[in-house]
Amino acid sequence: MMNNLFNRRRQKLMKLDQLRKTGEGAPKVLCPKCGHSVEKDKIKKNLKVCPLCGHYYPLTPRERLRLVADEKSFREIKKKLTTGNPLSFPDYQKKIDELKEKTGYEDAILTGTVEIGGIPAAIGVMDSRFLMGSMGTVVGEKVASLAEYAASKKLPLIIFSASGGARMQEGMFALMQMAKTAAAIERFKSAGGLYISCLTHPTTGGVSASFASLGDILLAEPDALICFAGPRVIEQTIGEKLPEGFQRAEFLADHGMLDMVVEREKMKKTLHTLLKLHQAGGQRG
Ligand SMILES: [Zn+2]
Repeated sequence: MMNNLFNRRRQKLMKLDQLRKTGEGAPKVLCPKCGHSVEKDKIKKNLKVCPLCGHYYPLTPRERLRLVADEKSFREIKKKLTTGNPLSFPDYQKKIDELKEKTGYEDAILTGTVEIGGIPAAIGVMDSRFLMGSMGTVVGEKVASLAEYAASKKLPLIIFSASGGARMQEGMFALMQMAKTAAAIERFKSAGGLYISCLTHPTTGGVSASFASLGDILLAEPDALICFAGPRVIEQTIGEKLPEGFQRAEFLADHGMLDMVVEREKMKKTLHTLLKLHQAGGQRG
């Protein structure tokens, strides 16, 4: 009896081992760009970039921080800030509660301080899983107070955006965050602060039309959609076909709207170089 059990378990383990070696049975995803079925594990190990076609999958804020910040250097600011339901929008509170549970975050942005290659900076990272990374009162308040914190500590400011725009469930309260964040960034910059804005897929609507576009330096990830209104809306409005790649990072960089398109694997090095140059300039000045 015991022998039988032991044998069965051994056979099961051997089969699992075989599956691991051949990759058969491993969880896979269908890549939306190349249409191939790719092992989840291979994508994860490749910084969440499709190893076959280079398609960029979204990163969670923690994954992003692991990629660009020195290990264990992140200190969170305003962790507990959470939204109310100012317009009593139906089901809004329920949705927020579900997303908190699902993502482990209180809203669509994580803010704090980090070190990048030993250089301290204030950082914000948006989360596109949280109601499309939309900006309501919490995102607005966290961006504005991060800029104020960075100014008070004389830290450079870096924000990774990923957003569908202003959060409709908060109506005018969400729209006014555009002015609020833009004003806070402007005050930070007038006081001599360096703001590097990193636009990731997608950065659209009210976020693209406020703090995300106000960087002294504008970086973007390859193929990121960056726009106010999407291509379909524009085509319908003007009744014309748009050029190939319109509103994608490369197109915008070619037309002078962005400084640089930076691959995921080079982002930390690029940020470190920019921070170092800024630090050296500050010391000279
Ligand atoms: Zn692919």
